[in-house]
Amino acid sequence: IHSLSKIYRMGGETLHALDKVSLTVEQGDFLAIVGPSGSGKSTLMNVIGCLDTPSSGEYWLDGEEVSRLRENKLAEIRNRKIGFIFQGFNLLSRLTAIENVELPLIYRGIPAKRRRQQAIEALGKVGLEERIHHRPVELSGGQQQRVAIARALAGNPPILLADEPTGALDTKTGVEVMGFIRELNALGHTIVLITHDLAVSRQAKRIVRIKDGMLEEEGGEPG
Ligand code: ATP
Ligand code: MG
Repeated sequence: IHSLSKIYRMGGETLHALDKVSLTVEQGDFLAIVGPSGSGKSTLMNVIGCLDTPSSGEYWLDGEEVSRLRENKLAEIRNRKIGFIFQGFNLLSRLTAIENVELPLIYRGIPAKRRRQQAIEALGKVGLEERIHHRPVELSGGQQQRVAIARALAGNPPILLADEPTGALDTKTGVEVMGFIRELNALGHTIVLITHDLAVSRQAKRIVRIKDGMLEEEGGEPG
């Protein structure tokens, strides 16, 4: 990411949600982005995740400049390369665990049999093979987040983006979920994690701080 800005114009006001941000994330990295509410974390995440495009600047993803691409091309890259994990889990309450995990695979046009197989595999990775037919209401918060992680993993995207994945969980369950995210990094997934919890950010290999849409120098301990 090179000198990337996102400007919102509301009425007469101009807001620099991201202000000339530059950032490099290597394959296999585990980066935490920390900052206070309204600092631009989700805006940055949405650009990294090809859910939104910047007002100016460059975003190179695997050697391709993606910041000016149209939505259909962006969606194609997003489906192939990126899995999302959100604070509120974003599971569909009428669907079982396995049906939730299969949903993005339907969008990707993967045939039913292979879809089911990949969903079972992903649920196995997060230790939920015994719960695949449960609906979200029949699962604990931590288990719901594990279903959401399995959904992000299905189709095996190289990049996982997590926006406050532990925000709705108690400390112990949050630690458990972070354990899974660390394992996924160890398996080779590149992880970008957004949090305003410093203890959570320390699980990452690298930390950058954002304030008023600007990135501050990097700190954080390795490992
Ligand atoms: P939080 O920790 O509360 O989730 P955040 O760091 O994720 O905060 P963002 O959601 O990235 O913050 O928002 C950054 C700034 O941009 C905020 O001032 C917000 O009000 C503004 N903003 C975000 N989305 C829009 C939008 N669609 N239109 C106008 N302003 C927006
Ligand atoms: Mg946010």
